[in-house]
Amino acid sequence: MDAKHQVYLQGDQIYTCSECHAHLARNDDIISKGFQGRHGRAYLFKTVHNIALGPKEDRVLMTGLHSVADITCTICQSVVGWIYLFAFEGSQKYKEGKYIVEKAKISKENHWIQRE
Ligand SMILES: [Zn+2]
Repeated sequence: MDAKHQVYLQGDQIYTCSECHAHLARNDDIISKGFQGRHGRAYLFKTVHNIALGPKEDRVLMTGLHSVADITCTICQSVVGWIYLFAFEGSQKYKEGKYIVEKAKISKENHWIQRE
């Protein structure tokens, strides 16, 4: 198993890990920017790459009880958010299998002004 193998995303705007700049998600994969994380504002994504799941736990969030798991950047091991595994409230079911990423943990990179 090669845990350091990194996926590189294609797209005009990519969200990267603010610690190590691993590609995490595409702008097109954002479902909502109106979420609240542990450190302030957070985004809900359809798909996030280069992450590993922590242990499953039940957590009471503002919108009720959910089973979640923290998601960790596989490159630098920092926790960037969590995944909703199960929502107990019917109205929150749409979040199952989706990812919360803390805005404070990511940087946005525009490909046409990428400086490397
Ligand atoms: Zn990272």
